[in-house]
Amino acid sequence: EEADAVVVKRKGTVDFSDITFNYPDFAVDLSLFKELTERERKSLAVQIEITYGTVKDYFTPENFYLTSAPDEALSFLKGIFKPFPFRLLDSFEEYERVIVLDPNAEEEFTHTEVTPNTLIVVGGIVDSSERLKGSTSKIMPDFLHRKITYKGIVSVVPDRINEIVKIVCDYLTSDLSLYEAVKRNL
Ligand code: SAM
Repeated sequence: EEADAVVVKRKGTVDFSDITFNYPDFAVDLSLFKELTERERKSLAVQIEITYGTVKDYFTPENFYLTSAPDEALSFLKGIFKPFPFRLLDSFEEYERVIVLDPNAEEEFTHTEVTPNTLIVVGGIVDSSERLKGSTSKIMPDFLHRKITYKGIVSVVPDRINEIVKIVCDYLTSDLSLYEAVKRNL
């Protein structure tokens, strides 16, 4: 498992021709969509679009999903994105590991836990002035939750969905430490 994690970390520097290799997948969880105001929903749509572009740039379009979306969220997004470009994920069974990025988690995110068959989940939460503080803990509570900090401090890390995913993509595809990846995206 450790060896697999190193392969992910060194994408681009090893010869992949004779190994089976999958990149980690990313999903935006929309289970808390009903909590968002109209303005926050519009911002969420923008952030989802940018995040999709980021995952596409670093990995492939097939590595990006929306998950746990209530009908209301889907019809809202389908009204904005025509044609609708996002794939929906409704089962996590095929993944060896699922990691929810969560600013309230106890443990820090690390690439050593990211196997090539890992799903990385980000909360589809846009809460102006932290109205929904702590809410990421409610997302998929039975799976691993991991935080990203800058020198141990959560509050200085950019918290937009697309920014968090960009930090993780930078980190997983380079030799940067998580600290350096955050710094580069401040
Ligand atoms: N106020 C929410 C809370 O306290 O749970 C955070 C919402 S944040 C705007 C949107 C999403 O980005 C979170 O659900 C989480 O997945 C991710 N995120 C933001 N900052 C993070 C951090 N420092 N560490 C891990 N994930 C983070």
